[in-house]
Amino acid sequence: MRTFAAQNFYIMASIKCVGILTSGGDAPGMNAAIRAVTRAAIYNGWEVKGIYRGYKGLITDEVSAFKTNNVSNIIQQGGTILKTARSQEFMTPEGRRVAYETVRRHQIDALVVIGGDGSLTGARIFAQEYNLPIVGLPGTIDNDLAGTDTTIGYDTALNTIMEAVDKIRDTASSHERLFFIEVMGRGAGFLALNGAVASGAEAAIIPEICTEVDQLEDLIKNGFRKSKNSSIVLVAESELTGGAMGMADRVKKEYPGYDVRVTILGHIQRGGSPSASDRILASRMGAAAIDALLDDQRNVMIGIQNEKIVYVPFSKAIKDDKPIDRDLLNTLRILSI
Ligand code: ATP
Repeated sequence: MRTFAAQNFYIMASIKCVGILTSGGDAPGMNAAIRAVTRAAIYNGWEVKGIYRGYKGLITDEVSAFKTNNVSNIIQQGGTILKTARSQEFMTPEGRRVAYETVRRHQIDALVVIGGDGSLTGARIFAQEYNLPIVGLPGTIDNDLAGTDTTIGYDTALNTIMEAVDKIRDTASSHERLFFIEVMGRGAGFLALNGAVASGAEAAIIPEICTEVDQLEDLIKNGFRKSKNSSIVLVAESELTGGAMGMADRVKKEYPGYDVRVTILGHIQRGGSPSASDRILASRMGAAAIDALLDDQRNVMIGIQNEKIVYVPFSKAIKDDKPIDRDLLNTLRILSI
């Protein structure tokens, strides 16, 4: 956190009020981020406006002044007190014009947007069209934004997956079944791969390597049941993997000897009180968003790399592919014998 004396007075003169919104899918830790942005802004002498329901709320003018007590007692809550929404209208120039009128009406000089790649894509376009300083925070359980080692909500979702798989394992082993468990990820395999390692699953089927190998065939050919009579396979939701249902259908057709079951974890993965890691990450990133605006940064996402806060241009965060950890994939294979 900067000291008051160290602030850039030119920027202070241009920014007096910051608006904050959460957009896209909710993620545990968004409230901790809202709290951090609000308090860091007030600490630096700025006003804060909370914008409800993401970009939709900018269009429909759902804006309230936030004081420090508006964000009391929320660090431990899942979801987002600002609510979140998806807005088709904001994807049109006309919708964004109405949104900008709301920004002007409330004398908001800069925005902090907390959300996933779609939300940051919208932020980038809006910032460019209206020359508005915007800083993004990576708020998504999917961990699919480039330039940051992790995203707000990912660790909590991973822990939720691990706890759910632990429970499913009890029934899988009692009935000697093969379970395909579908986890979220929106086309990215981070939750599936890391969730599989954390829960001691036999395999993860992830979109990143779908075009390289037939992961199901690989799994069966490697004799994944050589020493076991029940198995757990995590499947990332994706058109490429076909999801857990797609995998189970294939097994029923191609390997009818298996007693196969499917569990789709679904929205349980978004909920719950954020983990300590997510609370700390969100707090650091929220405070860093205000530091970034004081540093005259705009069109950047706050990231974390090797435990250090970094500024990642929106263009990089959104467009670059974030590679999965191939060593971890190999470790999963080795440990599942
Ligand atoms: P998650 O990854 O958790 O689902 P997200 O931020 O990627 O979160 P999206 O539904 O993709 O969620 O995007 C949220 C909102 O961002 C959209 O409803 C829309 O208002 C805005 N948005 C997305 N893409 C664009 C775009 N190309 N132009 C303008 N706005 C956009």
